[in-house]
Amino acid sequence: MKVGIIGAGSVGSATAFALIMRGVARKVVLIDANEQRAMAEAMDIAHATPFAYANKVKCGTYKDLEGAEVVIVTAGANQKPGETRIDLLGRNVKIFESIIPQIVAAAPNTTLLITANPADIMTEVALKLSGFPRERVIGSGTVLDTSRFRTLLGYYLGVSPKSIHANVLGEHGDSEVVVWSNGDAGTVQIEELAKMIGKPFTPEIKAEIDSNVRNAAYKIIDGKGATFYGIAGALCRICQAITTNEYAILTVSSHHDDVEGVKDVCLSLPTVVGKRGVHSVIYPKFSAEESKLLRESAEKIKEYSDQALEIISKKA
Ligand code: NAD
Repeated sequence: MKVGIIGAGSVGSATAFALIMRGVARKVVLIDANEQRAMAEAMDIAHATPFAYANKVKCGTYKDLEGAEVVIVTAGANQKPGETRIDLLGRNVKIFESIIPQIVAAAPNTTLLITANPADIMTEVALKLSGFPRERVIGSGTVLDTSRFRTLLGYYLGVSPKSIHANVLGEHGDSEVVVWSNGDAGTVQIEELAKMIGKPFTPEIKAEIDSNVRNAAYKIIDGKGATFYGIAGALCRICQAITTNEYAILTVSSHHDDVEGVKDVCLSLPTVVGKRGVHSVIYPKFSAEESKLLRESAEKIKEYSDQALEIISKKA
């Protein structure tokens, strides 16, 4: 199966590498405004294929997306010093206005997987610009944040992060909700498990884990300028769920009619993902505090999404 990637920068190239090395895609097409960059990344990754799977990675044009099951959109501007979030949004909407119609024309049956930031808002923008049904426009959402949470819990509890079912929901960003109340490992609620093994989660430890999840991107960007391996792993996992029709539950972002009273908003909830994209969404029980935080997160996304949609409708 074919996966297209728009934007062959740090995230796009790391994702292509992950897809190829894990054998998730038979063919990866890298497209970038900087053709030389796309060509160089494709060439470099292709030279690793003899050590993994005999799959193909090439640079290309939008026409080469024909038949792609998934098209990942990583192309997006990053915030410049002194630039407001809305200025950035305006620039990213402009980029999406040029990219999305070209994807739709070349691959009308594909599933869009949006990761450019601000990810939930850009997922809403892609939904509007593509005209696709909502189940075929997915944001990477908090799949990465959830994996950060599970990694930290796994280290603390001394169990594999793969055996932990605990999620980060809401916005992929500062208002994300780290959900403690319904996380479990081995069918035991995580806080109960921590007590059982003699390492209870004190308020200080919970605050530290919460902060390390929420502020991970800032720390990584301080150290190396960008984050890309974690998100590449997350994007590869989402693609695998789609291409194998797995019905995996992942905290992707998609459009919801109502989240805690906020109407028509894209954010992350536990979602069953398969060949049709979003198959169904699971709405968990939250503590009163988590419900409040989720509502605040939804309100924040909604405010910016409305502004982004207004930019589009003014031009229409
Ligand atoms: P980058 O600057 O390394 O790469 C972006 C690429 O997009 C560049 O190669 C650029 O040439 C290309 N591009 C720009 N406009 C284009 C257009 N109109 N058509 C085709 N290509 C175009 O950036 P990056 O580090 O790869 O990050 C990409 C995006 O992903 C950013 O918005 C970043 O904030 C976001 N991101 C999201 C997550 C997440 O969890 N959702 C994690 C990391 C990064």
